[in-house]
Amino acid sequence: MFNKSLGQHILTNPLIAQLIVDRADVKQTDTVLEVGPGTGNLTMKILEQAKKVIACEADPRLAAELTKRVRNANKQNKLEILHGDVMKRDLPFFDVCISNTPYQISSPLTFKLLAHRPLFRCAVLMFQHEFAMKLVAKPGESLYGRISVNCQLYAKVEHVRKVGKNNFKPPPKVESSVVRIDPINPPPAIDFDEWDGLIRIVFNRKHKTLKANFKSKTVMAMLENNYKTFCSENEMMLEDNFDIKEKVLAVLDDLNVADTRAITMTIDDFLE
Ligand code: SAM
Repeated sequence: MFNKSLGQHILTNPLIAQLIVDRADVKQTDTVLEVGPGTGNLTMKILEQAKKVIACEADPRLAAELTKRVRNANKQNKLEILHGDVMKRDLPFFDVCISNTPYQISSPLTFKLLAHRPLFRCAVLMFQHEFAMKLVAKPGESLYGRISVNCQLYAKVEHVRKVGKNNFKPPPKVESSVVRIDPINPPPAIDFDEWDGLIRIVFNRKHKTLKANFKSKTVMAMLENNYKTFCSENEMMLEDNFDIKEKVLAVLDDLNVADTRAITMTIDDFLE
């Protein structure tokens, strides 16, 4: 009956559904984006508190069921359904996002939300427990990595609570967790592709030193290429004795991070 490839695990515990809506601090004037409303267990609670719910659902069968349920409660004026895959569409304006997230889109959905403008106020999202713990992980913790750094660059992330498998039908294979994401407003003015390029290099092996990660042949070749392109675009001459390895190691030494490991570094360290 439920489609596994769409991550359909219906949240059957009304107390958890209420907790999610409560933690989102929905106001009577808010437009709430709900990703994957399913049969509407969260939607009905959000409709009680919001001005409007825009719900994006990939499964037409569930969208029809939701329409019926909301009409029966005479709340159809407050609901707009967007049909199809949330990842393949532009998002509308919203104040708050709530989702019992289809787990296969956890990471792309998180970053799609954080890239959305204007910024929303907060998002309360259910994820697989391990993914949630990666989002909130701090320097030095074993799950701290690229996802933690990229998300915490743009948002304050808080673990709300762990949710056991038996709160869903059918139960998923793993535990879940609710997190709350508050975007930092205004967002840091950095080029995300450049930033993510750096983060990929330093977290390639996060227990190794930065020096070791940068010294890899592929990284050096890529940096040399990029640096030469940069110089030609900016009409800069390459020095006669140009050596990318020396240049990179000099930067790491200057910043006193050559022997530092990414897993111990804060967002401010990376920004520097
Ligand atoms: N919100 C409901 C609840 O809490 O009981 C259902 C949550 S269920 C974990 C995920 C829902 O997202 C399903 O209804 C599924 O059909 C829908 N879904 C899966 N992938 C989607 C996508 N890419 N875009 C929009 N909806 C999607």
